[in-house]
Amino acid sequence: MSYVDEVIERVVKENPSEPEFHQAVKEVLNSLRVVVDANEEKFRRDAVLERLVNPERQIKFRVPWIDDQGQVHVNTGYRVQFNSAIGPYKGGLRLHPSVNLGIIKFLGFEQIFKNSLTGLPIGGGKGGSDFDPKGKSDREVMAFCQSFMSELCKYIGADTDVPAGDIGTGAREIGYMFGQYKKLRGVFEGVLTGKGLSYGGSLARTQATGYGLLYIVEEMLKSKGKSIEGKTVTVSGAGNVAIYAVEKAQQLGAKVVTVSDSNGWVYDPDGIDVAALKEIKEVKRQRLTEYKNYRPHSEYHEGKGVWSIKADIALPCATQNELDIEDAKALVANGVMVVAEGANMPTTQEATDYLQANNVYFIPGKAANAGGVATSALEMSQNSERMSWSFEEVDAKLKNVMIGLFHNIDAAAKKYGFDDNYVVGANIAGFEKVVDAMNAQGIV
Ligand code: NDP
Repeated sequence: MSYVDEVIERVVKENPSEPEFHQAVKEVLNSLRVVVDANEEKFRRDAVLERLVNPERQIKFRVPWIDDQGQVHVNTGYRVQFNSAIGPYKGGLRLHPSVNLGIIKFLGFEQIFKNSLTGLPIGGGKGGSDFDPKGKSDREVMAFCQSFMSELCKYIGADTDVPAGDIGTGAREIGYMFGQYKKLRGVFEGVLTGKGLSYGGSLARTQATGYGLLYIVEEMLKSKGKSIEGKTVTVSGAGNVAIYAVEKAQQLGAKVVTVSDSNGWVYDPDGIDVAALKEIKEVKRQRLTEYKNYRPHSEYHEGKGVWSIKADIALPCATQNELDIEDAKALVANGVMVVAEGANMPTTQEATDYLQANNVYFIPGKAANAGGVATSALEMSQNSERMSWSFEEVDAKLKNVMIGLFHNIDAAAKKYGFDDNYVVGANIAGFEKVVDAMNAQGIV
């Protein structure tokens, strides 16, 4: 049995009931075969893959908090510190009822390669809780965040582990967590990113993941002599990543016709009204059913359906495994040219294979959504030097990171004879840097 197959088998056996983690490990290791097979003896002796797929540390803790009626609830908190070979652990905190250890491990594993691809000195980690902020009062959210941070603060720090936002963790939650960290540890330091602008946040961090997604798509199309201008785009999700993907796509001259949330989706043939979307989601925290009040000619549908709409570019920006094989078939039948993942692993393996087999340019999340963590790293730099850069400065750096990242994964794919396969390119380019750093630091 090959070394790759052996390690995949062990991961599945030793981490039962963690299908998302298995999926992420299989996707990465399968695409690394060309590199691993060429170095099999050395990698096997050094247990390179075993060290990569086992987190350096995983922390699981109790999070008790009291609701507005005086009822006590207990959620579970997690922080998986996966790999610190190239820098302090860095990765978001997800607050969603679906969170479990396997989901946090899949996200943390992906984060290692994503962070490596940014070219910035950040290791991989991820955390979160099965707490659902939806429908909770501000006081309840604060009570949860303070309790969560009371435990998490023992394991993080500006030079060790710097969490950020993710699904369910926005500016409000980061603010409450930062306040609690400062109170308990007595230090004002850049321990979290995605902070508010009045206390150390970076301009352009809110926009970064969505904007970065469009910068990489633009650069990829440019390399093919094409452009985004005049293209029709479908987006799923209506959260932080989706909103700013819509905004930047429109700024670049595309027409975005869909967004969605976990209840339903909107089709606006004249182009999504991003100001209305921001008001509904960022200000009023409402459902997408409200969108019709702003745009009476738009359609609202319950359930799933974004990928049935004809588009040149599809940008899944909601959650994992939201684009399956049937969706991929519909996209291909409608002539889609590009699928780029704003969310983490939103495309199933079967759907990814189908899209690639049908010559769709497919950019995986670890490359396509790396703009968020890259800008988080820029926030860390600003905090370290106690300076704030202008929006334009941060945005220009973000764009440079995404352009460099595209050429890095494109070159890695070509080097190994997998032209235009950005999955292979991203995994190999991310892996090579991390393994080089791990080897240099010995068996630790
Ligand atoms: P938000 O919480 O701001 O938004 C998530 C959006 O996806 C919401 O519209 C939400 O709908 C929808 N959604 C969540 N879960 C489901 C589900 N099970 N089914 C259907 N829709 C769902 O999160 P973000 O925009 O920050 O994150 C979106 C994705 O991007 C995630 O995969 C995240 O890991 C990834 N990502 C985020 C980065 C960032 O900087 N924020 C950076 C890199 C990746 P509803 O409101 O109804 O739940």
